[in-house]
Amino acid sequence: MRGSIRLFKIFGISINVHITFFLLLVLVLSGGVRWLFLVGAVFFFVTLHEICHSLAARRFGIKVREITLFPIGGIASIAKVPEKPAQELFISLAGPAFNILVILVFFFPAKIILGPEVLFHPLSTDSWPLTVAYVYWINLVLAVFNLLPAFPMDGGRVLRALLATRLGYQKATKIAVALGHVFALVFAYIGIVRFNVILIVISVFIYMAASNEELQVDIKETLKKFKVCDILPRDFLTVTPDVSLSKVLELVFHSHQEDFPVLEDGELIGFISRQDIMKAVHRHGTAVKVSEIMRRKFPVAKDTDSLMKVHNLMRDSSTRAMPVMKGPRVVGVVTLEDISRVYAMVSHAA
Ligand SMILES: [Zn+2]
Repeated sequence: MRGSIRLFKIFGISINVHITFFLLLVLVLSGGVRWLFLVGAVFFFVTLHEICHSLAARRFGIKVREITLFPIGGIASIAKVPEKPAQELFISLAGPAFNILVILVFFFPAKIILGPEVLFHPLSTDSWPLTVAYVYWINLVLAVFNLLPAFPMDGGRVLRALLATRLGYQKATKIAVALGHVFALVFAYIGIVRFNVILIVISVFIYMAASNEELQVDIKETLKKFKVCDILPRDFLTVTPDVSLSKVLELVFHSHQEDFPVLEDGELIGFISRQDIMKAVHRHGTAVKVSEIMRRKFPVAKDTDSLMKVHNLMRDSSTRAMPVMKGPRVVGVVTLEDISRVYAMVSHAA
């Protein structure tokens, strides 16, 4: 994610910190070593919370690339949204369930070791025992905050999963997003009345994240409605493995196409994308042959695939163009730009 710094890797997931997390350090500088301990503890429990989501997602075969930590929580970048509401429910509850587990497991030890006066004292960092009690209660704050039934909180996903079975995914999302906007406005109101800047920042973040979720779902629903063959240009160019890169560049300049299937005796044997061409020009000059620079392994779309499916394929393989097949025949090239254009046209028309 943009504006974040990678810290370390665990279970194959990179743990990143968003630069806004360092806002917390401002508090640390003004508060001394016990504040530092507190911020470290928030960081620790937020990370474990996100790891629980990620491990739950993995149970359903959903990859998690990275976890980004923000001052008010983390975001696990899940490769795709779980299709089944039951899976989304399980994944969403895994994070808060961890914090609740911490609260339950450490309740009696904390009460015995710290004593009830310290444990039930209003939150404070005036002494070390009070700071440890603070850390304990942070888990309750994390659980309650994340279970608010509104996007982008986990509770918003839980609500959507519960509503989706009856109302459908898109309508369920709209309700959870609307609630996210309501909570954001409530937080903003409290923040303004109490002159609490952090609460105002949180409200803006919640509002934007909720809107973004709605946008993502709208994109997905739109892309599901179209197939690759609906948007494929009538004409397209292919190259043979023995032509030179200068010839390919000529084709790029004279057409609107920048990615080319490589055919030999009518059979698809390779693919060169815009990036491949640009890289090769810099590395090898324009005399090099297509066969030397083409990809031999690449994803392929079927003309009957939905744009949603192709969009996912592109994201998972980090490509932005792929050849389209109709049976054994190459019938065109589909690019991320084509998909974006369809979305832009349809969403503005609606
Ligand atoms: Zn969570």
